[in-house]
Amino acid sequence: MTPELLQAGAKRRQQHEERKSSGTASGGRSAGFGRPVREGQADFTQGVALYLEDITVSFDGFKALNALTLAINVGELRCIIGPNGAGKTTLMDVITGKTRPDAGSVFFGSTIDLLRMTEPQIAQIGVGRKFQKPTVYEKLTVFENLELALKADRRARATLFSRLTGEQLDRIGQMLALIHLKADVQRTAGLLSHGQKQWLEIGMLLMQDPKLLLLDEPVAGMTDEETERTAELFLSLEGQHSLVVVEHDMKFVDQLTQGRKKVTVLHEGSVLAEGLLADVQDDQKVVEVYLGR
Ligand code: ADP
Ligand code: MG
Repeated sequence: MTPELLQAGAKRRQQHEERKSSGTASGGRSAGFGRPVREGQADFTQGVALYLEDITVSFDGFKALNALTLAINVGELRCIIGPNGAGKTTLMDVITGKTRPDAGSVFFGSTIDLLRMTEPQIAQIGVGRKFQKPTVYEKLTVFENLELALKADRRARATLFSRLTGEQLDRIGQMLALIHLKADVQRTAGLLSHGQKQWLEIGMLLMQDPKLLLLDEPVAGMTDEETERTAELFLSLEGQHSLVVVEHDMKFVDQLTQGRKKVTVLHEGSVLAEGLLADVQDDQKVVEVYLGR
């Protein structure tokens, strides 16, 4: 997460708080998906959080994504698996505006055309992204990292040194519990374990209340226990946020899908298979290109 994206997310969060306090919105944080649609805001009333259609991305003639079509529902937790080079990270780059596709469309909710927006605008409208490597402010404490995520916005100079409101303190407290870092609140982030840094960054993203959260190999390098806790964390977010999780760790994917959620297998830039993990694992095409290795 870059400071620029952090700012964009914080600004959106602040606008949300302002709407809430102005009494025009229908409710609080967890009611986000059901809110009435306002101009310039995403519309989730059709049940679709994200829809990509026929997306093609070429790098010097090589198609990293090839007519890819994918739909993610509101509140859905979707795992995307596939061999190295399948296009999983490129897919996230397209959704977040980092890479422009040669063809196709990307919609956030049913009305927002993400291809018409810049990277900061996409972050601001409610798409959070967790890159593979943890990117926290190493010299700041856990608390300060979360505080920064909450406060960072275009008026940062004005708000950075202002005192947190009781509500903001409560929110940081809830986040610390959620990401299992309550005991480490005053520790310097640079001293956390790899897994704890990943949780902290996820917490920073969540401070900005994204509707859609993209997570690229979030448990790579984690211990088994950290991996299990991460699965629990994601499962607790399901429903309130839509999550797209790219992962190679099949045990983790199994824990996330609980034998009933759909997974998507990407191969050579297209969807090779989609279905229950047990079914795609038995799929001959999937075994050949990926799981059979
Ligand atoms: P995955 O995340 O599934 O491992 P990527 O999306 O990173 O795959 O990459 C898909 C393919 O696109 C790979 O062959 C990769 O080398 C290529 N690729 C990705 N980004 C670029 C780029 N900026 N320039 C050239 N080729 C790229
Ligand atoms: Mg990748």
